[in-house]
Amino acid sequence: MPELPEVQTVADTLAHQIKDASIIDVKILYPKIIEGDPDEFRKRLIGQHFRCFRRRGKYLLFEMDDVTLVSHLRMEGKYFIFGQSDPYLKHDHVIFDLQDGRSLHYNDVRKFGRMYLTEKKRTYRRFRDLGPEPFWKSFDLSYCKAFLSKRKAPIKEVLLDQSFVAGIGNIYADEILFASRIHPLRAADTLSDGQIRMVISNTRKILSKAIRAGGTTIRSYTSSLGVTGLFQMSLRAHDQKNCRTCGSKIVKIRVGGRGTYYCPKCQKEDQ
Ligand SMILES: [Zn+2]
Repeated sequence: MPELPEVQTVADTLAHQIKDASIIDVKILYPKIIEGDPDEFRKRLIGQHFRCFRRRGKYLLFEMDDVTLVSHLRMEGKYFIFGQSDPYLKHDHVIFDLQDGRSLHYNDVRKFGRMYLTEKKRTYRRFRDLGPEPFWKSFDLSYCKAFLSKRKAPIKEVLLDQSFVAGIGNIYADEILFASRIHPLRAADTLSDGQIRMVISNTRKILSKAIRAGGTTIRSYTSSLGVTGLFQMSLRAHDQKNCRTCGSKIVKIRVGGRGTYYCPKCQKEDQ
């Protein structure tokens, strides 16, 4: 599932490839991907240019001339760029034909992704329930302390709560806790100030490292396909066999229904 670094990489890659391209037609092969009226979606986008590519949490925001196109990739959504005479891929659901002869394909094996249009000035109001971005100044000790002090849930679960901080998913949550030497089942309201500081700084460190990794390999790709491959090499806990710090066997448990990996020696429950 694409998390913050993958979504950021998709935004950066598309900005590099189709900034200022204009849409001449939209073909909607699977209407459920579109929230709202698909005809209206199509009509409003024809003639619009891709002006700016942003990200908020795990949402992609394509700023067009008059509207914002919001896209959530969910489990497996991907974008590809092809020529207009190229055949469609299996699982291509929305095709944006561009004036320059290329097409942007939205491909989604699981069909869980969604896209919709929103008025430009209303774009950010749709994200009112999202917590701060990890790189915002407001994601600081006093904010985290106030939030965590009201949560008895395991810290792993709280890291996945998008109203706490936007963009972290299952893989990065494991990595952040491993780097911070905090057990994933540790009750959120029992973290010390020092541990909260570690979580904040490791969140930023790990996510920016992953964005840089995605950014360097993605150039030759037209989708998020290449990102996961490279990032997997720098994982320390998630889906790993042995701890690279102490050599212990990495343990897998379930926390809030999600497969969770940690080192029993480096991440002690009472630490
Ligand atoms: Zn270890």
